[in-house]
Amino acid sequence: MDCLFCKIARKGLPSDVIVYENDAAMAFLDIHPLSLGHTLVIPKIHYENIITLKEDEITPLFSAVKKITEQLMKVLSPHGFTIGINHGKDAGQVVDHLHIHVIPRYLGDGGRSIHSIIQNSSPYEEGLHNIAKKIRISQ
Ligand code: 5GP
Ligand code: ZN
Repeated sequence: MDCLFCKIARKGLPSDVIVYENDAAMAFLDIHPLSLGHTLVIPKIHYENIITLKEDEITPLFSAVKKITEQLMKVLSPHGFTIGINHGKDAGQVVDHLHIHVIPRYLGDGGRSIHSIIQNSSPYEEGLHNIAKKIRISQ
């Protein structure tokens, strides 16, 4: 498979943008940073999204997210972070290899919160409880 992020994981592309790796995950700087330190964290194996991601990949992947967030805080002292996944083409996913954006936030950067992605605040017609009932995962 000719996946861009698989190539980065194999270090088949310039690897000087890699900022952290463990056995199963890797973090590297985004080529078009939204802010100073914008980092992408990926599983080294190709998974398109969090649904297809294997259970035992979760810990190393999110451990890498935590590690790099701590490091960015230490060296760049941002005022906050926005951390997220564009899941699916319609949600803005361009590269179909799962990646978590870790975006340092700085005072006055003009960015907004996750709540600004969709401006639809109308309440559920069916009621919150009915939607929760539909979604709830039984133990
Ligand atoms: P998406 O929209 O799929 O969530 O984001 C893909 C991200 O990958 C974009 O922010 C884009 O700048 C970044 N990106 C695309 N190609 C490359 C590349 O070759 N190297 C690096 N380091 N980042 C890339
Ligand atoms: Zn891939």
